[in-house]
Amino acid sequence: MKILAIGSHPDDIEYGCGGTLIRFAEQGHEVYLFVATCGNFGGSPEIRKQEQLNAAEIIGAKEVIFGDYIDTQVPMNQELIQRLENEINRIKPDLIFTHYPDDTHQDHRNLSTCAKSATRFVKDFLFFEGPTTQNFNPNIYVDVEEVITKKQALLSAHYSQVEKTNIKDVAITRFMESTASFRGIKGRVKFAEGFVAVRYFLDIPDNKPADIEVPEKFEELIAKEIKEVKKDNFTKQTKVKQKTF
Ligand SMILES: [Zn+2]
Repeated sequence: MKILAIGSHPDDIEYGCGGTLIRFAEQGHEVYLFVATCGNFGGSPEIRKQEQLNAAEIIGAKEVIFGDYIDTQVPMNQELIQRLENEINRIKPDLIFTHYPDDTHQDHRNLSTCAKSATRFVKDFLFFEGPTTQNFNPNIYVDVEEVITKKQALLSAHYSQVEKTNIKDVAITRFMESTASFRGIKGRVKFAEGFVAVRYFLDIPDNKPADIEVPEKFEELIAKEIKEVKKDNFTKQTKVKQKTF
């Protein structure tokens, strides 16, 4: 499978779906990241770009695409929709993650809206949460207990941002762990990531015993039976009342 995660700033994707992406990459799936800005409002863009690349390496991502939009000025326009569509047409992802649309940060809101248009032909499309998300009520969960330490490392990789939470002595890693713990409790596991699905197709696994084949004569019998049922339906007298005018 190919997975594309779309975030506004370095560390948004890691916070929202980093554990899930680690799990996908560990299973051999291809993970791509689209990061719209370099977060120049929150620090040096060069440093933040490097931190993003370091985090992507921990995830095991195949590629990071930097949108190079200006931090706090991510637009909601046709140009960004087209930009995302071009990446989707090139990568052909099976599953896409992005910000939940109800968010106090305009970059998150605008990117979410653009992504919703750009992903309209992609089968599976999920919203993730962040510290500024509002009214988020997940309906899809991923157990991230086994990768929670790696997820901590993802956020620590964004070294310049760890303490920038606007709450004294509370680092982003603690935000993340509290969220993962809360979502975990809701899903009855220790740590989880929660998502809201725009579309999500259930995979129905093959549960047939592997070594049983239907012999040809059975197939003939089944075909005959189907024919007789059809004939029966045509000739049988039903007790259903008919109303005639
Ligand atoms: Zn952000």
